[in-house]
Amino acid sequence: MTSEHLDVLVVGAGLSGIGAACHLETERPGSSYAVLESRAAMGGTWDLFRYPGIRSDSDMFTLGYSFRPWKESKAIADGADIRRYIEDTAREYGVTQKIRYHHKVVSADWSSADSRWAVTVERTDTGETVTLTCSWLHTCSGYYSYEKGFSPSFEGEERFTGQVIHPQHWPEDLDLSGKEVVVIGSGATAVTLVPNLADQAAKVTMLQRTPSYILSLPGRDPLAKALKKRLPDRLTYPIVRWKNVLASTALYQLSRRRPALVRRLIRRLTLKQLPGFDVDTHFNPPYNPWDQRLCLVPDGDLFRTLRKGKADMVTDRIAHFTETGIQLESGRHLEADVVITATGLNLLPVGGMTLSLDGKRVDLSETVSYKGMMLSGVPNFTMVIGYTNASWTLKADLVNRYVCRLLDHLDDQGYVTATPVAPPEGADAPFLDLASGYVQRSLDGLPKQGGRTPWRLHQNYILDVRMMKRGSLEDEGMTFQKQPVAAGTQKSVA
Ligand SMILES: Cc1cc2nc3c(=O)[nH]c(=O)nc-3n(C[C@H](O)[C@H](O)[C@H](O)COP(=O)(O)OP(=O)(O)OC[C@H]3O[C@@H](n4cnc5c(N)ncnc54)[C@H](O)[C@@H]3O)c2cc1C
Repeated sequence: MTSEHLDVLVVGAGLSGIGAACHLETERPGSSYAVLESRAAMGGTWDLFRYPGIRSDSDMFTLGYSFRPWKESKAIADGADIRRYIEDTAREYGVTQKIRYHHKVVSADWSSADSRWAVTVERTDTGETVTLTCSWLHTCSGYYSYEKGFSPSFEGEERFTGQVIHPQHWPEDLDLSGKEVVVIGSGATAVTLVPNLADQAAKVTMLQRTPSYILSLPGRDPLAKALKKRLPDRLTYPIVRWKNVLASTALYQLSRRRPALVRRLIRRLTLKQLPGFDVDTHFNPPYNPWDQRLCLVPDGDLFRTLRKGKADMVTDRIAHFTETGIQLESGRHLEADVVITATGLNLLPVGGMTLSLDGKRVDLSETVSYKGMMLSGVPNFTMVIGYTNASWTLKADLVNRYVCRLLDHLDDQGYVTATPVAPPEGADAPFLDLASGYVQRSLDGLPKQGGRTPWRLHQNYILDVRMMKRGSLEDEGMTFQKQPVAAGTQKSVA
C-alpha cells in the first residue's frame, strides 16, 4: 500500500501550528501540507486550559501573530479570546480545512534513500494507525505533556478527604462557593487563579514554598488605546508590538546586568501595591529577576485581592497532608476543602514522538540545536520552541517564516535535504537557561546549545530578527544535498 505524500507535515494546531500553516499558505502557495492535531480542536494551550481566569501573562501585541493584528486595546487577553483569535486566523487564511484532528504523531523515520519522512500516526478517535510521508517535518507541538500536569507527591495526600485538582485538568462543573481553597504554587497559574477564585470561594490561601517576582501591567495598553483613535489597526499593531518588544527586552537585559537594582525596583513597586504587607517574606525570591519567568498581573489584580483581605498568602513548606488540610513545617495548619496544585507542567519535547534516521533512534540529548529550531544530524526537520523571556509567538513567527525561506532555497538550488551539523568545538550548554523546576527536571533529555551563532539560542528577538529574517541560509552550521544519501552514510548526530 502506498502512503499519502505531502511536501510538509505540521504537527500541532496550536498558536504555532496555525501560524506555520498561514505562512505556508501565503509564502508557499503551491506546496501540499497538512496539520496533524491529536486533539479534537485547535488552539492547543488556549483550548486545553479551562481554569477560572485563564489568560495570557504576556501582552497580546507580541503574543499575536506578526501578520494579523490583535485589534483590541486589551493587552492581557483571556483564554477564550486567544482561542477565538487563533480560530479566526485559521479561517481567514484558509487553513481550517487542512487540519486533521484526532491524528497523534507517534514516530517519524527518515529514509535517506528516499529523502523523506515516514510518519506514523495514531487515530485518537478510532485507534487506527495511519502512515504518511513528507519531505519536511515541522513540529509545533508545544513544550509540555497534554496527558498530565506536574504534581509533586505530598506525604499523606491519600488521607486528605477533600478534593485535589490540577489546573490542567479543571473539572467543568466545579463549584467552590462556600469552600476553603488552598492554591499551592507561586507561578503564573497560581497568581491568575487566586484573584479569580477569591470571588467564588469562602476563603482562598495561596501557599508557596518560594516566592516569585510579580509585576503589575496595565490590562489595557495606554499607547494602543491612544493610537487606535487616530490610526488603523494595521499601523497601530506594529508600533505597539515594537514598543512592547523593546520594553521587555530592556527589562530582561537590565535584570541580567543589574539584578540588585531590578530587585530593589520590584520591591519598591510591590510595597506601593501592598502597604504594610510582609513583602520581604512573600515577594522576595532567593534568585535574581529573570532566573525564572517573571509573573505579570493585569492591573495588579492579585495585589488588590490581597489588599482587600479576600485571599491570604503563606510562604512555608508542606510537612504533610492531613484529613482536613495541609500541615506546614512551621507548625501552622491550613484547613481546606479543595487543594489546587498549581505546581507546573511536565516538559515534553517534540510532542513525545520518536524520531529515527534509517531506523536508528535519535537521542535528542546528543543533538545540538541549530538556531533553536533544527537538530544536528537530523535532515528536513524543524521545531518551534518559543522564547522563555518574551512572548512565544515572536520566535514562532520567525521560525515559521524561516522554514518557508529554507524551502524556497531548496527549490531554487535543486537541493533535496538541509541537515544541520554540530559545531566543530562541540557544544554542551543546556538548551534552556531557566532555573524553573519544570526546566531543570527535563534538561537531561533536551538538545544542547553551542557557544556561538548559529548554535546559540539568543533568547533575544532583536538579534533573532537579524539572523532569521535577513541572515544567510547557508552557513557553517548547515549542509545541503542535491541527491538522496545512501542509507548508512548519514552524518553522525553530534
Ligand atoms: C497556562 C499557560 C499560559 C501561558 N501563557 C503564555 C503567555 O502569556 N505568553 C507566552 O508567550 N506563552 C505562554 N504560554 C506558553 C504557551 O504554551 C505558548 O504561548 C503557546 O500557546 C504555544 O503554542 P504552541 O502551538 O507552540 O503549543 P501548544 O499551545 O501547546 O499547542 C501544541 C499543539 O500540538 C498538539 N500536539 C502535541 N503533540 C502532538 C503530537 N505528537 N501529534 C499531534 N499533535 C500534537 C497539541 O494537542 C496542541 O494542540 C503559556 C502556557 C501555559 C500552559
